[in-house]
Amino acid sequence: MLEIEGLTVTYGDVVAIDNLDLTIEPGEIVSLLGPSGSGKSTLLRAVAGLEKPTAGILRWNGGDLAAIPVHRRGFGLMFQDYALFPHRTVAANVAFGLEMMHKSRAEIGERVDTVLSLVGLQGYGDRAIGHLSGGQQQRVALARAIAPAPRLLMFDEPLGSLDRSLRDRLVVELHDILDRVGATSIYVTHDQQEAFALADRVVLLHDGRIEQVGSPEELWSHPRSPFAARFLGFRNLVPTGNARAMGWPTPSPVTDHVVYRADGFSPDDDGPFVVTTRSRTYRGDHHLLVVTAADGTELDVVVRGEPAPEPGRQLRLRLDPSAVVPVGE
Ligand code: ADP
Repeated sequence: MLEIEGLTVTYGDVVAIDNLDLTIEPGEIVSLLGPSGSGKSTLLRAVAGLEKPTAGILRWNGGDLAAIPVHRRGFGLMFQDYALFPHRTVAANVAFGLEMMHKSRAEIGERVDTVLSLVGLQGYGDRAIGHLSGGQQQRVALARAIAPAPRLLMFDEPLGSLDRSLRDRLVVELHDILDRVGATSIYVTHDQQEAFALADRVVLLHDGRIEQVGSPEELWSHPRSPFAARFLGFRNLVPTGNARAMGWPTPSPVTDHVVYRADGFSPDDDGPFVVTTRSRTYRGDHHLLVVTAADGTELDVVVRGEPAPEPGRQLRLRLDPSAVVPVGE
């Protein structure tokens, strides 16, 4: 297992990682999630040994990593510009790390076949890299990273250059593959959907510190701060005092802020939300309304099925209790 204790990494005056503690268990898939500049890559690079900590300790299975150079840590890395060797075949690309380990030809051949079938590229060994699609190249890069059976696999925005639908598909495959390999993995992304689809545990970073850590379900059901709620894509973030003054449902446990999930509303003549529709956007399977309350609070409201209210109309809404999300400590 990996233990990070009091880790600080600075670049001149910039504190990229600020006294951070984190433990990653064997076989766990952890996602480092956060906006650009929050320190995700720096943390990953420090674990890899590519960045020297200003302070703090990194341990693997209890042993200090400080004196162990990058290539002896037994960690695998996969970046967005995964830089396959364009003039080598698929098999030769995947064999690279194994050759560096001076494995026998027979061993290499067998392992290359195994990992190629694991990533769904059985029979592709003799193909040229240039003849593969972007998604296939991604799989070759993944096969190359897992071939040497690293103790820890690290990914830095590996799907960043691909379009949304391909990313969505590959992330599901990747989750499956990592589960089967059983490798401990750290996955850097700024994309909340990707982190949630992939990770057992999400570490949300903000200015070099951990804002929140938990399973995707834990983060989703109880963001610990307004920053976390906004970063997870929640709208309708309201100070609980304002909500109480309006007679709206308050969160349990009671927290400083509350989110009213846009998809939990429905029209109801006795509902506690008295609002005026400001705008209405057709979204295929629903309408998105932007409404305002008497105190000026703006809310997004999803309306399905029935004729959506015209802008300018007043209406009353109720909210499914499960759509009241506590935000804060
Ligand atoms: P993220 O991966 O979340 O986008 P980074 O780890 O790349 O964040 O950066 C964290 C902070 O450290 C940012 O303020 C960034 O500008 C700074 N930083 C990162 N790398 C360097 C570097 N080589 N030199 C100076 N500042 C850096």
